[in-house]
Parts: sequence; C-alpha cells; structure tokens
Amino acid sequence: MSRLGAERIEGVRHVAAGNQIAMAKRGLLLIISGPSGVGKTTITHEVERRLGGVFSVSMTTRPRAAEDRHGLDYHFVTVKEFQAALDAGELLESAEVFGNFYGTPRRPVEDAIAAGRLMILEIDVQGAIHVKKKLPEAYAIFVLPPSEEVLIERLRRRKREDEATIQRRFGKAKREIALARKCGVYDAFLVNDELDAAIDEAVEIVQRKMRDGATG
Ligand code: 5GP
Repeated sequence: MSRLGAERIEGVRHVAAGNQIAMAKRGLLLIISGPSGVGKTTITHEVERRLGGVFSVSMTTRPRAAEDRHGLDYHFVTVKEFQAALDAGELLESAEVFGNFYGTPRRPVEDAIAAGRLMILEIDVQGAIHVKKKLPEAYAIFVLPPSEEVLIERLRRRKREDEATIQRRFGKAKREIALARKCGVYDAFLVNDELDAAIDEAVEIVQRKMRDGATG
C-alpha cells in the first residue's frame, strides 16, 4: 500500500495546485463527520433531503455491505480503479481508513458549487482537514455521541460487525473525536442524543449558514 500512499499525497498536491473552486453565492460546501455509529449518515441524508442538497458519493475500496447502495452511498471500486482515479487527479481528497481507501470525486463538487448548490461531503477528519485547507469557506459539522457508553452500545446494536471490529471502531471513534476537537477545522459540534432533534438542529445550522452567506 505504500505506493498508493505516496500517490495519494501526490494526488492531494495536484488538487491543491490546480483546484480553483470559487464559492458561488449561496452555494455551500458542507462537511459532516463523526465516528461510526453516531447517526451521521441519517443526519446527512435528512439535511440533503430537506434542503435540496447534493450528496457526494465517495469512491471506496472497502467491501460492499448488504445495505450499501452502489452508486448512491458509494462507488465501490478495486484498488486499481482507485489508484487510476487518484493518478488522473479525479479526487478532491482521499484517506485510508482501516486499510481501505476512500476519496471524494472532485468533479461533482466543482459542478455543484459552481451551480450555487448545497454540496454535502460525509467524510472523516483527515478528509475534512484536507478539504478545509483547500477550501476554507467550507462549513464543517462534527456529530458527537452523548457519551462513550452510548456510542459502543449503538455500534453493537447495528449488528454489522464482530466484536473485534466493533472494538476497533470504538477505539478509532475516541481518537477521531479527540482529533476533531483539537484540529480547529469544525465550525459546529452537534450531539446526537435524540435523532429527530439532532436532525432539526443540523438543518437549522445549515440553513442559517446558507442564509447568512456561505461566501464567508
Ligand atoms: P464507512 O466504511 O463506515 O461507510 O466509512 C468509514 C469512514 O470513512 C467514515 O468516517 C466516513 O465518513 C469516511 N469516509 C467516507 N467517504 C469518505 C471520503 O470520500 N473521504 C474521506 N476522507 N473519508 C470518507
């Protein structure tokens, strides 16, 4: 994977040099992050639905789970295909999570922002740091669990993975929360205690940001 790692950095440099996305008036690039099991996907899709946003469909090399919709939740690709996209400069940012690669296709983001749309990226903290560096006008929300106990309980309830994987995700979640707090990239932290309330709050925050000017 070291080759891919090197290419990845190269890809990011390429984007940083060549990417001149101007934020159109009222368009907003929204980043939503949070650990697994925190409910961020549901929140993201509700914000998208209620505010007429465009969801960024990431490219990933991770195996497709039963509930994943190819082309809607992710574009599932091979490492070779991912590498080709990276080489061609097609990814705005990319990151490695648990040995799998994830990346944001650049073109849909450019198109949506140019059209003044709300573009939503559900990406991890590494990705958010990269995007904010290139596009400081982006608005970033981090979704927090009410407590660590609630988070591990939610991870177990999903019944998606075995206990070892759950423990790995929990460990990563704790590190991710700590990094999110200290990296200075997030504009808002949203605690998902009760899902409907968290969705309403997210919608309100984003609406306010769009109304008050996304051009910063
Ligand atoms: P999952 O495999 O559980 O769907 O996602 C694992 C992690 O990767 C989540 O934190 C998710 O937000 C993040 N992620 C998904 N797509 C991307 C992407 O394109 N770029 C980055 N940096 N992270 C992503």
